[in-house]
Amino acid sequence: MNDQTDEIKEKIDIVEYVGQFVKLTKAGRNFKGLCPFHQEKTSSFVVSPDRQIWHCFGTCGVGGDVISFLMKWENLTFYEALKELAEKTGVKLENGNFDDTKWDQKEKLYAINRATLKYYQYLLAKTSYGAAAREYLRARKLNDKIINTFELGYAPSSWDSLSKYLQKKSFSLQDIAASGLIILKNQTHGYDRFRNRIMFPLRDARENVVGFSGRLLKEDARAAKYVNTPETDVYHKRDHLFGINKTKESIRKLDNVIVVEGEFDLITPYQYGVENIVAIKGAALTEGQLNIIKRYTKRLTLALDTDAAGVEAMKRGITLAEKMDFEIHIVEFSKGKDPDEAIRADKVQFLKDVKKARPIYDFLIDSAKKKYPEDTSFHKKQIGNEVAPFIKMISNPIVRSHYIRSLAGILNVQEESVERLLRKQEFHAKTNYASKKKETTSISRSELVQKYLLSFLLQHKKLADIFSSENMVLEKEFFKIPSYASIFEKLKEYISDIKEEFDYTKFVGLLPAQTQSVADELFLFASDLPEMDDRSFYKLGFELGIDELKKSMQTMLKESDTPDDAKLSALSEKLKHMEKTYRSL
Ligand code: ATP
Ligand code: MN
Repeated sequence: MNDQTDEIKEKIDIVEYVGQFVKLTKAGRNFKGLCPFHQEKTSSFVVSPDRQIWHCFGTCGVGGDVISFLMKWENLTFYEALKELAEKTGVKLENGNFDDTKWDQKEKLYAINRATLKYYQYLLAKTSYGAAAREYLRARKLNDKIINTFELGYAPSSWDSLSKYLQKKSFSLQDIAASGLIILKNQTHGYDRFRNRIMFPLRDARENVVGFSGRLLKEDARAAKYVNTPETDVYHKRDHLFGINKTKESIRKLDNVIVVEGEFDLITPYQYGVENIVAIKGAALTEGQLNIIKRYTKRLTLALDTDAAGVEAMKRGITLAEKMDFEIHIVEFSKGKDPDEAIRADKVQFLKDVKKARPIYDFLIDSAKKKYPEDTSFHKKQIGNEVAPFIKMISNPIVRSHYIRSLAGILNVQEESVERLLRKQEFHAKTNYASKKKETTSISRSELVQKYLLSFLLQHKKLADIFSSENMVLEKEFFKIPSYASIFEKLKEYISDIKEEFDYTKFVGLLPAQTQSVADELFLFASDLPEMDDRSFYKLGFELGIDELKKSMQTMLKESDTPDDAKLSALSEKLKHMEKTYRSL
Protein backbone atom coordinates (compact mmCIF):
# COMPACT_ATOMS: atom_id res chain seq x y z
CA MET A 1 0.00 0.00 0.00
CA ASN A 2 2.88 2.33 0.76
CA ASP A 3 4.29 1.70 -2.68
CA GLN A 4 0.97 2.60 -4.22
CA THR A 5 0.72 5.77 -2.16
CA ASP A 6 4.16 6.79 -3.38
CA GLU A 7 3.32 5.88 -6.95
CA ILE A 8 0.21 8.05 -6.83
CA LYS A 9 2.09 10.97 -5.34
CA GLU A 10 4.78 10.71 -7.97
CA LYS A 11 2.22 10.97 -10.73
CA ILE A 12 0.64 14.15 -9.42
CA ASP A 13 2.25 17.55 -9.31
CA ILE A 14 1.00 19.22 -6.16
CA VAL A 15 1.31 22.75 -7.55
CA GLU A 16 -0.82 21.83 -10.53
CA TYR A 17 -3.29 19.88 -8.43
CA VAL A 18 -3.77 22.44 -5.66
CA GLY A 19 -3.70 25.16 -8.32
CA GLN A 20 -7.05 23.90 -9.62
CA PHE A 21 -8.66 25.05 -6.39
CA VAL A 22 -6.41 27.81 -5.08
CA LYS A 23 -4.92 30.66 -7.09
CA LEU A 24 -1.17 30.26 -6.59
CA THR A 25 1.59 32.67 -7.52
CA LYS A 26 5.31 32.09 -7.58
CA ALA A 27 7.21 33.27 -4.52
CA GLY A 28 10.89 32.40 -4.64
CA ARG A 29 11.24 28.66 -4.90
CA ASN A 30 7.68 28.10 -3.76
CA PHE A 31 4.15 29.14 -4.61
CA LYS A 32 1.73 30.91 -2.38
CA GLY A 33 -1.90 31.89 -2.21
CA LEU A 34 -4.84 32.51 0.10
CA CYS A 35 -5.36 29.55 2.41
CA PRO A 36 -8.52 27.70 1.35
CA PHE A 37 -9.07 26.38 4.86
CA HIS A 38 -9.54 29.67 6.70
CA GLN A 39 -10.52 33.21 5.85
CA GLU A 40 -7.65 35.55 5.17
CA LYS A 41 -6.67 38.58 3.14
CA THR A 42 -2.90 38.02 2.94
CA SER A 43 -1.45 34.85 1.49
CA SER A 44 -0.07 32.49 4.09
CA PHE A 45 -0.63 29.26 2.20
CA VAL A 46 2.59 27.91 0.66
CA VAL A 47 3.10 25.02 -1.75
CA SER A 48 6.51 23.58 -2.53
CA PRO A 49 7.16 21.96 -5.90
CA ASP A 50 10.51 20.59 -4.66
CA ARG A 51 9.02 18.84 -1.68
CA GLN A 52 5.49 18.32 -3.04
CA ILE A 53 4.00 19.61 0.17
CA TRP A 54 1.80 22.47 1.38
CA HIS A 55 1.67 24.45 4.59
CA CYS A 56 -0.53 27.19 6.03
CA PHE A 57 1.40 29.69 8.14
CA GLY A 58 -1.80 31.47 9.14
CA THR A 59 -4.52 30.44 11.55
CA CYS A 60 -4.48 26.77 10.50
CA GLY A 61 -0.77 26.20 11.04
CA VAL A 62 -0.98 22.80 9.37
CA GLY A 63 0.32 21.23 6.22
CA GLY A 64 0.95 17.97 4.43
CA ASP A 65 1.03 16.29 1.05
CA VAL A 66 -1.43 16.09 -1.82
CA ILE A 67 -3.46 13.39 -0.07
CA SER A 68 -3.91 15.36 3.11
CA PHE A 69 -4.82 18.38 1.00
CA LEU A 70 -7.63 16.48 -0.69
CA MET A 71 -8.78 15.02 2.64
CA LYS A 72 -9.17 18.51 4.05
CA TRP A 73 -10.55 20.07 0.89
CA GLU A 74 -13.30 17.51 0.38
CA ASN A 75 -13.61 16.34 3.98
CA LEU A 76 -12.59 12.78 3.11
CA THR A 77 -10.97 9.94 5.00
CA PHE A 78 -7.47 8.92 3.97
CA TYR A 79 -8.68 5.98 1.94
CA GLU A 80 -11.37 7.98 0.14
CA ALA A 81 -8.81 10.57 -0.90
CA LEU A 82 -6.38 7.89 -1.98
CA LYS A 83 -9.08 6.19 -4.03
CA GLU A 84 -9.91 9.40 -5.82
CA LEU A 85 -6.27 10.15 -6.65
CA ALA A 86 -5.73 6.53 -7.71
CA GLU A 87 -8.54 6.86 -10.23
CA LYS A 88 -7.14 10.12 -11.48
CA THR A 89 -3.67 8.71 -11.99
CA GLY A 90 -4.69 5.26 -13.16
CA VAL A 91 -2.94 3.52 -10.28
CA LYS A 92 -4.67 0.29 -9.25
CA LEU A 93 -5.23 0.02 -5.51
CA GLU A 94 -5.03 -3.42 -4.00
CA ASN A 95 -8.13 -4.04 -1.95
CA GLY A 96 -8.37 -5.67 1.38
CA ASN A 97 -5.12 -5.06 3.14
CA PHE A 98 -6.00 -1.56 4.05
CA ASP A 99 -7.33 -0.58 7.42
CA ASP A 100 -9.49 2.50 7.42
CA THR A 101 -12.38 1.80 9.77
CA LYS A 102 -13.84 5.25 9.40
CA TRP A 103 -14.04 4.72 5.68
CA ASP A 104 -15.58 1.27 6.11
CA GLN A 105 -18.29 2.74 8.30
CA LYS A 106 -19.05 5.58 5.90
CA GLU A 107 -19.12 3.18 2.97
CA LYS A 108 -21.61 1.01 4.86
CA LEU A 109 -23.92 3.97 5.46
CA TYR A 110 -23.74 4.96 1.81
CA ALA A 111 -24.65 1.40 0.83
CA ILE A 112 -27.65 1.39 3.18
CA ASN A 113 -28.79 4.73 1.82
CA ARG A 114 -28.38 3.55 -1.78
CA ALA A 115 -30.45 0.44 -1.12
CA THR A 116 -33.10 2.57 0.58
CA LEU A 117 -33.17 5.00 -2.32
CA LYS A 118 -33.91 2.14 -4.72
CA TYR A 119 -36.55 0.75 -2.40
CA TYR A 120 -38.41 4.08 -2.07
CA GLN A 121 -38.05 4.75 -5.78
CA TYR A 122 -39.53 1.38 -6.64
CA LEU A 123 -42.50 1.90 -4.31
CA LEU A 124 -43.27 5.26 -5.85
CA ALA A 125 -42.95 4.29 -9.47
CA LYS A 126 -44.11 0.71 -9.62
CA THR A 127 -46.59 -0.11 -6.84
CA SER A 128 -50.11 0.74 -5.80
CA TYR A 129 -48.76 1.93 -2.42
CA GLY A 130 -47.21 4.84 -4.27
CA ALA A 131 -50.38 5.92 -6.08
CA ALA A 132 -51.27 8.82 -3.78
CA ALA A 133 -47.69 10.08 -3.81
CA ARG A 134 -47.62 9.95 -7.62
CA GLU A 135 -50.86 11.91 -7.62
CA TYR A 136 -49.36 14.48 -5.23
CA LEU A 137 -46.32 15.02 -7.45
CA ARG A 138 -48.53 15.36 -10.52
CA ALA A 139 -50.56 18.01 -8.71
CA ARG A 140 -47.31 19.87 -8.05
CA LYS A 141 -46.64 19.67 -11.78
CA LEU A 142 -43.52 17.51 -11.73
CA ASN A 143 -43.14 15.26 -14.79
CA ASP A 144 -41.80 11.69 -14.84
CA LYS A 145 -38.47 12.74 -16.22
CA ILE A 146 -37.73 15.12 -13.36
CA ILE A 147 -38.99 12.57 -10.82
CA ASN A 148 -36.39 10.20 -12.24
CA THR A 149 -33.65 12.78 -12.39
CA PHE A 150 -33.99 13.56 -8.70
CA GLU A 151 -34.72 9.91 -7.86
CA LEU A 152 -37.80 10.78 -5.85
CA GLY A 153 -39.44 7.99 -3.89
CA TYR A 154 -42.14 7.05 -1.45
CA ALA A 155 -41.80 5.82 2.14
CA PRO A 156 -44.77 3.56 2.89
CA SER A 157 -47.12 4.03 5.77
CA SER A 158 -45.51 1.28 7.84
CA TRP A 159 -43.45 1.04 11.01
CA ASP A 160 -41.00 -1.60 9.87
CA SER A 161 -41.09 -2.38 6.16
CA LEU A 162 -37.83 -0.56 5.37
CA SER A 163 -36.13 -2.00 8.42
CA LYS A 164 -37.17 -5.54 7.39
CA TYR A 165 -36.12 -4.96 3.82
CA LEU A 166 -32.65 -3.76 4.81
CA GLN A 167 -32.13 -6.59 7.29
CA LYS A 168 -33.04 -9.06 4.56
CA LYS A 169 -30.22 -7.46 2.57
CA SER A 170 -28.06 -8.40 5.58
CA PHE A 171 -27.43 -4.96 7.00
CA SER A 172 -27.32 -5.06 10.80
CA LEU A 173 -29.86 -3.25 12.92
CA GLN A 174 -27.03 -1.20 14.46
CA ASP A 175 -25.78 -0.04 11.07
CA ILE A 176 -29.29 0.80 9.90
CA ALA A 177 -29.80 2.83 13.06
CA ALA A 178 -26.45 4.58 12.46
CA SER A 179 -27.79 5.68 9.08
CA GLY A 180 -30.70 7.40 10.82
CA LEU A 181 -33.28 5.47 8.83
CA ILE A 182 -34.66 3.73 11.87
CA ILE A 183 -35.08 4.96 15.39
CA LEU A 184 -34.00 2.35 17.96
CA LYS A 185 -36.32 1.64 20.89
CA ASN A 186 -33.88 -0.81 22.46
CA GLN A 187 -30.98 -3.07 21.40
CA THR A 188 -33.15 -5.28 19.19
CA HIS A 189 -36.10 -3.18 18.05
CA GLY A 190 -36.63 0.00 16.17
CA TYR A 191 -39.10 1.66 13.83
CA ASP A 192 -38.81 3.37 10.46
CA ARG A 193 -38.19 7.11 10.70
CA PHE A 194 -39.91 7.99 7.41
CA ARG A 195 -43.52 6.90 7.00
CA ASN A 196 -46.04 7.87 4.36
CA ARG A 197 -43.86 10.57 2.88
CA ILE A 198 -42.54 11.71 -0.50
CA MET A 199 -38.82 10.99 -0.29
CA PHE A 200 -36.00 13.19 -1.58
CA PRO A 201 -32.59 11.50 -1.55
CA LEU A 202 -29.85 13.87 -0.41
CA ARG A 203 -26.66 13.44 -2.41
CA ASP A 204 -23.41 15.30 -1.88
CA ALA A 205 -21.35 16.89 -4.67
CA ARG A 206 -19.62 13.52 -5.18
CA GLU A 207 -22.93 11.67 -5.67
CA ASN A 208 -22.84 9.81 -2.35
CA VAL A 209 -26.33 9.35 -0.91
CA VAL A 210 -25.87 10.96 2.49
CA GLY A 211 -29.46 11.03 3.70
CA PHE A 212 -33.10 11.77 2.95
CA SER A 213 -35.73 14.39 3.36
CA GLY A 214 -39.39 13.34 3.49
CA ARG A 215 -42.50 15.46 2.93
CA LEU A 216 -46.02 14.78 4.11
CA LEU A 217 -48.60 14.12 1.39
CA LYS A 218 -51.24 16.11 3.24
CA GLU A 219 -50.74 18.98 5.63
CA ASP A 220 -51.17 17.63 9.14
CA ALA A 221 -50.99 19.88 12.18
CA ARG A 222 -49.67 17.00 14.32
CA ALA A 223 -46.66 16.15 12.12
CA ALA A 224 -43.70 18.08 10.76
CA LYS A 225 -44.13 18.93 7.07
CA TYR A 226 -40.56 17.83 6.39
CA VAL A 227 -38.52 15.24 8.25
CA ASN A 228 -34.78 14.88 7.57
CA THR A 229 -32.06 12.36 8.30
CA PRO A 230 -30.48 13.36 11.63
CA GLU A 231 -26.73 14.08 11.91
CA THR A 232 -24.85 10.87 11.08
CA ASP A 233 -21.30 9.97 10.10
CA VAL A 234 -22.17 10.95 6.53
CA TYR A 235 -24.91 13.59 6.86
CA HIS A 236 -23.98 16.96 8.26
CA LYS A 237 -26.81 19.39 7.80
CA ARG A 238 -24.52 22.41 7.94
CA ASP A 239 -22.37 21.14 5.08
CA HIS A 240 -25.17 19.98 2.84
CA LEU A 241 -26.59 21.68 -0.23
CA PHE A 242 -29.52 19.93 -1.82
CA GLY A 243 -29.16 19.47 -5.58
CA ILE A 244 -25.46 20.35 -5.84
CA ASN A 245 -24.60 17.01 -7.48
CA LYS A 246 -26.92 17.86 -10.38
CA THR A 247 -26.36 21.59 -10.57
CA LYS A 248 -22.67 22.22 -9.95
CA GLU A 249 -21.66 22.23 -13.62
CA SER A 250 -24.31 24.77 -14.51
CA ILE A 251 -23.32 26.91 -11.52
CA ARG A 252 -19.73 26.88 -12.69
CA LYS A 253 -20.67 27.62 -16.28
CA LEU A 254 -22.99 30.52 -15.48
CA ASP A 255 -20.72 31.69 -12.65
CA ASN A 256 -23.73 32.35 -10.47
CA VAL A 257 -25.83 30.32 -8.05
CA ILE A 258 -29.44 30.89 -7.09
CA VAL A 259 -29.84 29.90 -3.45
CA VAL A 260 -33.34 28.74 -2.50
CA GLU A 261 -34.97 27.34 0.63
CA GLY A 262 -36.70 24.11 -0.28
CA GLU A 263 -36.52 20.95 -2.35
CA PHE A 264 -39.42 21.98 -4.60
CA ASP A 265 -37.90 25.43 -5.04
CA LEU A 266 -34.96 23.70 -6.69
CA ILE A 267 -36.65 20.88 -8.56
CA THR A 268 -39.42 22.89 -10.24
CA PRO A 269 -37.12 25.56 -11.70
CA TYR A 270 -34.77 22.76 -12.79
CA GLN A 271 -37.64 21.18 -14.72
CA TYR A 272 -38.14 24.54 -16.41
CA GLY A 273 -34.48 24.69 -17.43
CA VAL A 274 -33.01 26.82 -14.62
CA GLU A 275 -30.19 24.62 -13.40
CA ASN A 276 -27.78 26.84 -11.47
CA ILE A 277 -29.50 26.39 -8.09
CA VAL A 278 -28.88 24.94 -4.66
CA ALA A 279 -31.32 24.57 -1.75
CA ILE A 280 -30.36 25.16 1.87
CA LYS A 281 -33.49 23.42 3.17
CA GLY A 282 -34.99 26.11 5.27
CA ALA A 283 -31.92 26.83 7.41
CA ALA A 284 -29.52 29.78 7.47
CA LEU A 285 -26.63 29.77 5.01
CA THR A 286 -23.59 28.34 6.80
CA GLU A 287 -19.84 28.65 6.36
CA GLY A 288 -19.64 24.98 5.39
CA GLN A 289 -22.15 25.54 2.60
CA LEU A 290 -20.35 28.66 1.39
CA ASN A 291 -17.10 26.73 1.30
CA ILE A 292 -18.68 24.24 -1.09
CA ILE A 293 -20.25 26.94 -3.26
CA LYS A 294 -17.02 28.90 -3.63
CA ARG A 295 -15.49 26.02 -5.60
CA TYR A 296 -17.95 26.78 -8.36
CA THR A 297 -18.73 30.49 -8.16
CA LYS A 298 -18.26 33.63 -6.10
CA ARG A 299 -21.68 35.05 -7.07
CA LEU A 300 -24.71 34.39 -4.92
CA THR A 301 -28.24 35.24 -5.92
CA LEU A 302 -30.32 34.68 -2.81
CA ALA A 303 -33.94 33.71 -3.43
CA LEU A 304 -34.90 33.26 0.20
CA ASP A 305 -37.83 34.23 2.33
CA THR A 306 -37.67 38.03 2.74
CA ASP A 307 -40.18 38.54 5.52
CA ALA A 308 -38.75 40.14 8.67
CA ALA A 309 -37.73 36.82 10.24
CA GLY A 310 -36.24 35.66 6.94
CA VAL A 311 -34.09 38.77 6.66
CA GLU A 312 -32.78 38.34 10.21
CA ALA A 313 -31.91 34.71 9.48
CA MET A 314 -30.16 35.80 6.30
CA LYS A 315 -27.90 38.35 7.96
CA ARG A 316 -25.36 36.00 9.47
CA GLY A 317 -24.98 34.17 6.19
CA ILE A 318 -24.53 37.49 4.41
CA THR A 319 -21.81 38.56 6.84
CA LEU A 320 -19.98 35.29 6.29
CA ALA A 321 -20.36 35.50 2.53
CA GLU A 322 -19.14 39.08 2.50
CA LYS A 323 -16.05 38.10 4.46
CA MET A 324 -15.41 35.34 1.96
CA ASP A 325 -15.61 37.87 -0.90
CA PHE A 326 -18.81 36.66 -2.46
CA GLU A 327 -20.78 39.09 -4.57
CA ILE A 328 -24.33 38.94 -3.23
CA HIS A 329 -27.65 39.80 -4.86
CA ILE A 330 -31.17 39.31 -3.64
CA VAL A 331 -34.06 38.37 -5.87
CA GLU A 332 -37.69 38.92 -4.97
CA PHE A 333 -40.32 37.39 -7.21
CA SER A 334 -43.20 39.46 -8.47
CA LYS A 335 -45.50 36.43 -8.67
CA GLY A 336 -45.75 33.55 -6.21
CA LYS A 337 -44.49 33.23 -2.64
CA ASP A 338 -41.47 31.05 -3.42
CA PRO A 339 -39.40 30.03 -6.47
CA ASP A 340 -41.49 26.88 -6.99
CA GLU A 341 -44.68 28.92 -7.33
CA ALA A 342 -43.02 31.82 -9.11
CA ILE A 343 -41.66 29.84 -12.03
CA ARG A 344 -44.90 27.92 -12.46
CA ALA A 345 -46.84 31.17 -12.46
CA ASP A 346 -44.72 32.83 -15.15
CA LYS A 347 -41.35 31.57 -16.33
CA VAL A 348 -40.53 34.71 -18.31
CA GLN A 349 -41.24 36.92 -15.32
CA PHE A 350 -39.19 34.56 -13.12
CA LEU A 351 -36.17 35.00 -15.37
CA LYS A 352 -36.67 38.77 -15.49
CA ASP A 353 -36.82 38.90 -11.69
CA VAL A 354 -33.58 36.92 -11.42
CA LYS A 355 -31.91 39.27 -13.86
CA LYS A 356 -33.10 42.27 -11.87
CA ALA A 357 -31.75 40.89 -8.58
CA ARG A 358 -30.64 43.78 -6.37
CA PRO A 359 -27.21 44.18 -4.76
CA ILE A 360 -27.46 43.09 -1.17
CA TYR A 361 -26.77 46.60 0.22
CA ASP A 362 -29.70 48.16 -1.63
CA PHE A 363 -31.86 45.41 -0.29
CA LEU A 364 -30.67 45.85 3.30
CA ILE A 365 -31.20 49.61 3.17
CA ASP A 366 -34.72 49.10 1.85
CA SER A 367 -35.64 46.54 4.46
CA ALA A 368 -34.32 48.75 7.27
CA LYS A 369 -36.39 51.60 5.83
CA LYS A 370 -39.46 49.38 5.91
CA LYS A 371 -38.76 48.44 9.49
CA TYR A 372 -38.25 52.07 10.59
CA PRO A 373 -40.50 54.10 8.28
CA GLU A 374 -40.96 57.24 10.39
CA ASP A 375 -39.21 60.50 9.62
CA THR A 376 -37.91 60.82 13.17
CA SER A 377 -34.37 61.05 14.45
CA PHE A 378 -34.88 57.85 16.44
CA HIS A 379 -35.88 55.87 13.36
CA LYS A 380 -33.04 57.36 11.34
CA LYS A 381 -30.57 56.36 13.99
CA GLN A 382 -31.96 52.82 13.92
CA ILE A 383 -31.60 52.60 10.15
CA GLY A 384 -28.02 53.84 10.42
CA ASN A 385 -27.13 51.32 13.13
CA GLU A 386 -28.64 48.48 11.19
CA VAL A 387 -27.09 49.18 7.81
CA ALA A 388 -23.67 50.50 8.86
CA PRO A 389 -22.21 47.11 9.86
CA PHE A 390 -22.79 45.87 6.32
CA ILE A 391 -21.52 48.95 4.53
CA LYS A 392 -18.45 48.86 6.72
CA MET A 393 -17.59 45.44 5.29
CA ILE A 394 -17.42 46.65 1.70
CA SER A 395 -13.78 46.58 0.67
CA ASN A 396 -14.10 48.23 -2.75
CA PRO A 397 -13.77 52.00 -2.03
CA ILE A 398 -15.97 53.08 -4.95
CA VAL A 399 -18.83 50.80 -4.00
CA ARG A 400 -18.36 51.80 -0.39
CA SER A 401 -18.55 55.51 -1.02
CA HIS A 402 -21.58 54.96 -3.22
CA TYR A 403 -23.45 53.41 -0.29
CA ILE A 404 -22.18 55.96 2.19
CA ARG A 405 -23.67 58.63 -0.04
CA SER A 406 -26.88 56.72 -0.43
CA LEU A 407 -27.25 56.11 3.31
CA ALA A 408 -26.47 59.78 4.03
CA GLY A 409 -29.22 60.75 1.58
CA ILE A 410 -31.78 58.51 3.25
CA LEU A 411 -30.88 59.69 6.73
CA ASN A 412 -30.72 63.25 5.47
CA VAL A 413 -27.32 63.85 7.10
CA GLN A 414 -23.83 64.75 5.85
CA GLU A 415 -21.70 61.96 4.41
CA GLU A 416 -19.14 62.75 7.11
CA SER A 417 -21.63 61.75 9.78
CA VAL A 418 -22.07 58.35 8.16
CA GLU A 419 -18.32 57.96 7.91
CA ARG A 420 -17.99 58.83 11.58
CA LEU A 421 -20.58 56.17 12.40
CA LEU A 422 -18.62 53.60 10.39
CA ARG A 423 -15.35 54.55 12.07
CA LYS A 424 -16.94 54.18 15.45
CA GLN A 425 -18.10 50.68 14.63
CA GLU A 426 -14.78 49.83 13.00
CA PHE A 427 -12.92 50.93 16.12
CA HIS A 428 -14.93 48.49 18.21
CA ALA A 429 -14.39 45.71 15.73
CA LYS A 430 -10.64 46.34 15.58
CA THR A 431 -10.04 46.43 19.32
CA ASN A 432 -11.90 43.14 19.63
CA TYR A 433 -9.82 41.67 16.87
CA ALA A 434 -6.53 42.86 18.33
CA SER A 435 -7.20 41.33 21.73
CA LYS A 436 -8.18 38.04 20.13
CA LYS A 437 -5.09 38.00 17.95
CA LYS A 438 -2.81 38.45 20.93
CA GLU A 439 -4.13 35.29 22.54
CA THR A 440 -3.42 33.10 19.55
CA THR A 441 -0.03 34.24 18.28
CA SER A 442 2.47 34.20 21.11
CA ILE A 443 5.68 33.35 19.25
CA SER A 444 8.57 35.47 20.54
CA ARG A 445 10.68 37.71 18.36
CA SER A 446 13.76 35.61 19.03
CA GLU A 447 11.98 32.44 17.93
CA LEU A 448 10.76 34.21 14.82
CA VAL A 449 14.30 35.29 13.98
CA GLN A 450 15.53 31.72 14.43
CA LYS A 451 12.83 30.42 12.11
CA TYR A 452 13.61 33.10 9.59
CA LEU A 453 17.37 32.37 9.60
CA LEU A 454 16.92 28.63 9.19
CA SER A 455 14.37 29.10 6.46
CA PHE A 456 16.79 31.30 4.59
CA LEU A 457 19.57 28.72 4.90
CA LEU A 458 17.40 25.82 3.76
CA GLN A 459 16.37 27.70 0.65
CA HIS A 460 19.84 28.93 -0.30
CA LYS A 461 21.57 27.34 -3.30
CA LYS A 462 25.15 28.43 -2.45
CA LEU A 463 25.16 27.38 1.15
CA ALA A 464 28.85 26.51 1.20
CA ASP A 465 29.66 30.18 0.52
CA ILE A 466 27.44 31.29 3.37
CA PHE A 467 28.99 28.89 5.85
CA SER A 468 32.53 29.84 4.88
CA SER A 469 31.91 33.58 5.14
CA GLU A 470 33.50 35.38 8.09
CA ASN A 471 30.20 37.15 8.63
CA MET A 472 28.50 33.88 9.41
CA VAL A 473 28.29 33.91 13.19
CA LEU A 474 25.47 31.47 13.81
CA GLU A 475 26.15 28.70 16.28
CA LYS A 476 24.12 25.73 17.32
CA GLU A 477 23.68 27.21 20.80
CA PHE A 478 21.77 30.20 19.42
CA PHE A 479 18.85 27.93 18.55
CA LYS A 480 16.81 27.28 21.67
CA ILE A 481 14.33 24.83 20.14
CA PRO A 482 16.07 21.42 20.11
CA SER A 483 14.85 20.46 16.63
CA TYR A 484 16.09 23.79 15.25
CA ALA A 485 19.47 23.29 16.86
CA SER A 486 19.77 19.80 15.46
CA ILE A 487 18.73 20.89 11.98
CA PHE A 488 21.36 23.62 12.10
CA GLU A 489 24.01 21.17 13.27
CA LYS A 490 23.15 18.62 10.59
CA LEU A 491 23.17 21.31 7.96
CA LYS A 492 26.63 22.47 8.97
CA GLU A 493 27.96 18.91 8.83
CA TYR A 494 26.30 18.25 5.51
CA ILE A 495 27.61 21.41 3.87
CA SER A 496 31.21 20.71 4.88
CA ASP A 497 31.14 17.56 2.72
CA ILE A 498 29.56 18.78 -0.49
CA LYS A 499 30.91 20.91 -3.29
CA GLU A 500 27.93 21.26 -5.60
CA GLU A 501 24.77 23.35 -5.15
CA PHE A 502 22.80 22.72 -2.01
CA ASP A 503 19.87 20.40 -2.67
CA TYR A 504 17.27 20.64 0.08
CA THR A 505 15.43 17.50 -0.97
CA LYS A 506 18.56 15.39 -0.63
CA PHE A 507 19.37 16.95 2.69
CA VAL A 508 15.94 16.46 4.25
CA GLY A 509 16.04 12.78 3.32
CA LEU A 510 18.96 12.34 5.73
CA LEU A 511 17.03 13.66 8.73
CA PRO A 512 15.01 11.50 11.11
CA ALA A 513 11.28 11.46 10.23
CA GLN A 514 10.11 13.80 13.02
CA THR A 515 12.74 16.37 12.21
CA GLN A 516 11.81 16.19 8.52
CA SER A 517 8.42 17.77 9.07
CA VAL A 518 9.95 20.57 11.15
CA ALA A 519 12.51 21.15 8.40
CA ASP A 520 9.79 21.18 5.76
CA GLU A 521 7.88 23.80 7.66
CA LEU A 522 11.03 25.91 7.99
CA PHE A 523 11.84 25.43 4.32
CA LEU A 524 8.45 26.88 3.37
CA PHE A 525 8.38 29.52 6.07
CA ALA A 526 10.23 32.41 4.49
CA SER A 527 8.18 32.40 1.28
CA ASP A 528 5.62 34.02 3.47
CA LEU A 529 7.93 36.90 4.33
CA PRO A 530 9.68 39.53 2.23
CA GLU A 531 12.74 38.24 0.42
CA MET A 532 16.03 38.48 2.28
CA ASP A 533 19.50 39.01 0.76
CA ASP A 534 22.75 37.58 2.10
CA ARG A 535 23.68 40.81 3.86
CA SER A 536 20.41 41.09 5.76
CA PHE A 537 20.83 37.45 6.64
CA TYR A 538 24.26 38.05 8.19
CA LYS A 539 22.96 41.08 10.06
CA LEU A 540 20.08 39.15 11.48
CA GLY A 541 22.51 36.43 12.50
CA PHE A 542 24.57 39.01 14.37
CA GLU A 543 21.48 40.34 16.12
CA LEU A 544 20.61 36.89 17.35
CA GLY A 545 24.21 36.26 18.39
CA ILE A 546 24.51 39.55 20.26
CA ASP A 547 21.26 38.87 22.07
CA GLU A 548 22.38 35.40 23.04
CA LEU A 549 25.76 36.63 24.29
CA LYS A 550 24.14 39.29 26.43
CA LYS A 551 21.73 36.73 27.82
CA SER A 552 24.48 34.30 28.80
CA MET A 553 26.48 37.06 30.45
CA GLN A 554 23.46 38.11 32.46
CA THR A 555 22.81 34.53 33.50
CA MET A 556 26.41 34.14 34.65
CA LEU A 557 26.14 37.26 36.77
CA LYS A 558 22.81 36.28 38.23
CA GLU A 559 23.64 32.69 39.06
CA SER A 560 26.92 33.20 40.83
CA ASP A 561 28.30 35.68 43.35
CA THR A 562 31.80 34.95 42.12
CA PRO A 563 31.52 34.69 38.37
CA ASP A 564 34.50 33.48 36.39
CA ASP A 565 36.15 36.78 35.50
CA ALA A 566 38.29 35.37 32.73
CA LYS A 567 35.29 33.81 31.03
CA LEU A 568 33.24 36.93 31.51
CA SER A 569 35.81 39.20 29.98
CA ALA A 570 36.26 36.81 27.06
CA LEU A 571 32.54 37.01 26.42
CA SER A 572 32.62 40.75 26.77
CA GLU A 573 35.48 40.98 24.23
CA LYS A 574 33.53 38.80 21.86
CA LEU A 575 30.46 40.96 22.31
CA LYS A 576 32.39 44.15 21.61
CA HIS A 577 33.88 42.63 18.50
CA MET A 578 30.52 41.41 17.25
CA GLU A 579 28.88 44.76 17.83
CA LYS A 580 31.64 46.46 15.89
CA THR A 581 31.42 44.10 12.94
CA TYR A 582 27.65 44.34 13.03
CA ARG A 583 27.78 48.11 12.66
CA SER A 584 30.17 47.88 9.74
CA LEU A 585 28.04 45.41 7.80
P1 ATP B 1 -43.60 23.02 0.14
O1 ATP B 1 -43.56 23.80 -1.13
O2 ATP B 1 -43.42 21.56 -0.02
O3 ATP B 1 -44.71 23.38 1.05
P2 ATP B 1 -41.68 24.83 1.03
O4 ATP B 1 -40.26 24.69 0.62
O5 ATP B 1 -42.51 25.86 0.35
O6 ATP B 1 -42.29 23.41 0.87
P3 ATP B 1 -41.33 25.85 3.71
O7 ATP B 1 -42.25 25.60 4.83
O8 ATP B 1 -41.09 27.23 3.21
O9 ATP B 1 -41.87 24.90 2.59
O10 ATP B 1 -39.93 25.19 4.09
C1 ATP B 1 -38.75 25.43 3.37
C2 ATP B 1 -37.85 24.23 3.48
O11 ATP B 1 -37.50 24.04 4.84
C3 ATP B 1 -38.50 22.92 3.10
O12 ATP B 1 -38.43 22.65 1.74
C4 ATP B 1 -37.72 21.93 3.91
O13 ATP B 1 -36.52 21.58 3.26
C5 ATP B 1 -37.44 22.68 5.17
N1 ATP B 1 -38.44 22.40 6.19
C6 ATP B 1 -39.69 22.85 6.25
N2 ATP B 1 -40.34 22.39 7.33
C7 ATP B 1 -39.46 21.64 8.01
C8 ATP B 1 -39.50 20.90 9.22
N3 ATP B 1 -40.60 20.83 9.95
N4 ATP B 1 -38.38 20.25 9.60
C9 ATP B 1 -37.27 20.32 8.89
N5 ATP B 1 -37.16 20.99 7.73
C10 ATP B 1 -38.23 21.65 7.28
MN1 MN C 1 -43.21 25.88 -1.51
